[in-house]
Amino acid sequence: MLRIQNAKSIAGTLINLDIPSEQEATIDATGLTLLPGLIDPHVHFRTPGYEHKEDWRTAAQAAISGGYTTVFDMPNTLPPTVTLELLKEKKSIIDKQLKEIGIPLRYQLFFGADKQHLNQIAKVKGQVIGIKVFMGCSTGGLVIDDDESLNAIFKIAAAENMLVAVHAEDECLMNQNKKLYVENKEYAIHSKIRNIQAAVIAVEKAIHLTRIYGTKLYILHVSSADEVELIQKAKQEGLPVYAETTPHHLFLNDSAYATLNGKAQVNPPLRASKHQYALFQAIHDGIIDTLGTDHAPHTLAEKAKAYGDCPSGMPSIEVALKLLLNAYHENKLSLNEIVSLTSKRAKEIFNLPETNDFVLVDLSKQTTIQDSQMKTKCGWSPYAGLVLTGEPVYTILNGKTYPAVT
Ligand SMILES: [Zn+2]
Repeated sequence: MLRIQNAKSIAGTLINLDIPSEQEATIDATGLTLLPGLIDPHVHFRTPGYEHKEDWRTAAQAAISGGYTTVFDMPNTLPPTVTLELLKEKKSIIDKQLKEIGIPLRYQLFFGADKQHLNQIAKVKGQVIGIKVFMGCSTGGLVIDDDESLNAIFKIAAAENMLVAVHAEDECLMNQNKKLYVENKEYAIHSKIRNIQAAVIAVEKAIHLTRIYGTKLYILHVSSADEVELIQKAKQEGLPVYAETTPHHLFLNDSAYATLNGKAQVNPPLRASKHQYALFQAIHDGIIDTLGTDHAPHTLAEKAKAYGDCPSGMPSIEVALKLLLNAYHENKLSLNEIVSLTSKRAKEIFNLPETNDFVLVDLSKQTTIQDSQMKTKCGWSPYAGLVLTGEPVYTILNGKTYPAVT
C-alpha cells in the first residue's frame, strides 16, 4: 500500500489516500497539492527511426518528471505507423524500451492515415486511440492533401466508430505562400507561409466532413482566435468536435523568433500575441478541451540549420505542467482548468479507464528552466532561462512513486 498523507486537493481540503501498491511506503505530502496524473494526447517520441532525437527511455523519464503518466504517440515515425504490422512492431519496440528503463508509462498510439493503406484502418480498430490525418505536410511524409482520400477516411472512421485527429493546415495554400517567400530565409517567414488562413481552411474542411459523416473529430494544436471561432460554432451546432492547444501556442508568440531562431519553428507556427489571449479565453469558455504538448524533439544541430532545412517542432513534455502552474499564479488559469486540460477532458473524449495515477505538486516552489536539467534526449527547452512558480514533486504511476524533480 502506498499512503499519501496530508495532501491538499485543488479545492484546498486535506486528503489522505491509500493506493494499492507492491510498495509499502508513506509520502508525507504536507504542503503539496494532489492532481490526477497528466495525460498528453499528443507526443512525438520519434521511435522507430529517429532515435537520435528521442526514444522511449529518455521520453518516459521526461514525461514522468513533468507529471505525465499517459501519452498518445503520433505515427510520423520511420517507418510511419500505417499498417497493422507496423503498429505491432512499434508497440513491441516501445514495450522493450519502457521495460529497460523501468517506467511502465501508459501509452496509446495514433494510426497514420495513408492513401495507400486506407484498408488498414478497420484492421487496427480497438488497437489505436484514433486516426491521425496530416492535412498538410509536416515532419515525415504522411500527408492527405486530396479531398477524395479525406472523405474516405472520415467515412471509414465514422463507420468503425473511430476518432479522427487532424493536423489542420491546408497544403495548397501553404505551397502558394512558399513561392512568395523563396528569397527570404528568416525563420519568422514560417508564420507567414503557414498563415492562419491555412489553418482556417483546413479546420473548416474537417468540421464539414464531421457534419457529413458524424465522425468524432479531434483538432490538434489549435493556434488562433480564428480556429477557435469555427470550433465554437461547430460545438454549438452539436457536432462531436474537440479541440487541443499546446504550451507553445499559449506561452510563446511570434516575437520568440528574435531570441530562439530555429528553435521557435513549429507547426502550426507561433502566432501574434493576441491569439494567446484568445486561446486562454477559449479554455475559460470550454471551447478548447485539452492541452497536448506536441512534444517534438529535434537535436540542437538540426534546429541550428538555416530556414528551409530546419525541422519544425520543439520539446515540452517536462515543462508543460510548470508553465500551467505558473499561469495559475498569474491568474490566467484555475487549478480546475489545469486538471480539465491535462486529464479530465482527455479521459472523457478518448474514453480512458480510471487509473490511480497522480502527481503531487508544490505550488509555491520557484525554479529556473535549464537545458542541463532536461531528460529529453535532445537536451534543450525553448523555455530555458524562464523562472516559473510551481513544480511537480512526485509522480505516482500504477502504485509506484517517481520523484519528479531533478
Ligand atoms: Zn504533432
